Amino acid sequence: MSLLPVVGGSTGVATRVATHCPYCALQCGQWVGPTGDVDAREFPTNRGGLCQKGWTAGALLNHPERLTAPLLRESRSAEFATVGWDRALAYVGRRLADLRAEYGPDSVAVFGAGGLTNEKSYLLGKFARVALGTSQIDYNGRFCMSSAAAAGNRAFGVDRGLPFPVTDLDDAEVVVLAGANVAETMPPLMGHLGGARLVVVDPRRTPTAERAIASGGLHLQPVPGTDLVLALGMLHAAVTDGWLDTGYLAERTSGFDDAWRVAAQWWPERAERVCGVPAADMRTVVAWLAATSRRYVLTARGAEQHAHGVDTVTAWINLALALGLPGRPGSGFGTITGQGNGQGGREHGQKSDQLPGYRSISDPAAREHVAGVWGVAPDALPGPGRSATELIAALGRPDGPRAMLVFGSNLLVSAPDGNAVAERLAALDLLVVADVVPGETAMAADVVLPVAQWAEEEGTMTNLEGRVLRRRRALRPPEGVRTDLEVISGLAAELGAAGFPADPRAVFDELRAASAGGPADYSGISYDRLDAGEALHWPCPARAPGETAHPGSPRLFTERFAHADGRARLVAVDHTDAAELPDPEYPLRATTGRVLVHYQSGAQTRRVAELAGIAPESFIEVHPDTAARAGLADGDWARVVSRRGKAMARVRCVPTLRPDTVFLPFHFGAGQAANLLTNPALDPISRMPEFKVCAVRLERSS
Ligand code: SF4
Repeated sequence: MSLLPVVGGSTGVATRVATHCPYCALQCGQWVGPTGDVDAREFPTNRGGLCQKGWTAGALLNHPERLTAPLLRESRSAEFATVGWDRALAYVGRRLADLRAEYGPDSVAVFGAGGLTNEKSYLLGKFARVALGTSQIDYNGRFCMSSAAAAGNRAFGVDRGLPFPVTDLDDAEVVVLAGANVAETMPPLMGHLGGARLVVVDPRRTPTAERAIASGGLHLQPVPGTDLVLALGMLHAAVTDGWLDTGYLAERTSGFDDAWRVAAQWWPERAERVCGVPAADMRTVVAWLAATSRRYVLTARGAEQHAHGVDTVTAWINLALALGLPGRPGSGFGTITGQGNGQGGREHGQKSDQLPGYRSISDPAAREHVAGVWGVAPDALPGPGRSATELIAALGRPDGPRAMLVFGSNLLVSAPDGNAVAERLAALDLLVVADVVPGETAMAADVVLPVAQWAEEEGTMTNLEGRVLRRRRALRPPEGVRTDLEVISGLAAELGAAGFPADPRAVFDELRAASAGGPADYSGISYDRLDAGEALHWPCPARAPGETAHPGSPRLFTERFAHADGRARLVAVDHTDAAELPDPEYPLRATTGRVLVHYQSGAQTRRVAELAGIAPESFIEVHPDTAARAGLADGDWARVVSRRGKAMARVRCVPTLRPDTVFLPFHFGAGQAANLLTNPALDPISRMPEFKVCAVRLERSS
């Protein structure tokens, strides 16, 4: 494949550039031309296909709402004034320095995102720990993948969403998708599942569930918050129906007896009474998985976004291990990452408990290694900080941060309990947001810094397979716009901190050194190797000069798992009720998710006319009987009320939905934000909020 030069490159010819979609973790291959025109590009994950989000991504590059100059206001009640970069950076630098001097380094917080490139994630983490000296950094990936990450680490000793290439799924005979609606969230992935019998676990009859039925598979429709019981019932069926892979369990795992001690109490008929899925269906799916040789269990947000999401994912892993899937050729367990750099974003230090290379910030050896790369004393590095939801809850409180810098995240729409988020952001002395358009959080800030978009910058992303990809610049950002790296570098200079290059290649080379020897070892990956077209999945350690370069690791666990003894762990997990259950005042379970044409908080896709025309407003899916009981009909506006707030949504009557369940997409802002309703209850391990279930009632609205 020839990767052509950018506009103004050595040929001086305007031509197109090979890059990847800015949105989800499938990271479909794109060509982007000098005017921002997008075309599909052949790449293994998308095979020349794109979804509507990808096709229209270029519409934001010249969008009339594009931010092209820093905005600043001296008080929240004042209007924004356009200012120059020197003034904006000097103002932020001075305010941060003053707050640190008066209240200490933890008075400043940093909030990153799973959409940031590896270079940005890395430099942001270093900026927080070294330039600011704060422990208060976390990111929106905490809302997205942290439960699967924790479950993967616990079971396998390492967290890589898919421990195999997407193309391995092409030959699958049976695929269980637990809480994944890939037909809408990443449609090209469905092309890899075309030959398989699909089983979809979802309270809704999604387009993916329809495909499952059409494939001769099943749609399992649990009560929201009871997926773990379903997985326990299936593990019980695996044992009692004689499908256990005893040889694999003995050779490659530990902990089965403990896991079975709990699962033994969840025979399928008992599990059915809690989760609502017929026991016969549990047995059927287990038999399908066990009786074929090419089978996969894949989880996603539906399994994770619970107050017990780590245990729920663990229950699916236990089932997969009991049937001998992980690490076996043609089979496996994986998690479908959501955000564009959801994988890389959680490896390089913007998570509150991590250092680059997926190292723990609490590990003395990791601290020493990274401090050495950064040229500071290990003791100078702060320890772990608060997780995202806890960080937001602490903002502006006496013992919490008084200022926050936000990169690539729209908290007012994407964080749970939106009213409380707005209150905490308003309590800050200083809120600085780097964004490309005036999203809801940017418009609540004191300072807004306009930054470059995907097609205007260089860097790397790590897709759902752990494959590191090059993001390439096809056109220059508009006048007045800087890259995030330039912004971080500029802020570091204002704070008098050295060692913050703005050049992505220089940052990546430093990241390689910092990751060397860690679980996510990138030290053998270089821009040159990636530009030469090599498919490099981490870990990819550097080799001594003269040795053949490491080829990367497309498939993990084929010989051993990453725990010291090489074995995977089954872990005993049991059902716990959702943190909030229906009652007479709030009788319905609300669950939230995505639609085909919008991405995350919708700050970008709601501004793309073609996408907004398809999905212009929020809606709520309701069973017709439930709607009728609330005095609502298809097309009415409903007021959806939880203990934390209310949100408006257009009623869609859906006969296939459970009558006790309603669904809202979370992409909309202002009074239509589903996260005005959601419960910030956290998983005790991953600290991920319970987006997937809260109790609500419906009211008629004029
Ligand atoms: Fe591909 Fe995801 Fe972009 Fe759609 S949003 S084109 S599935 S990377």
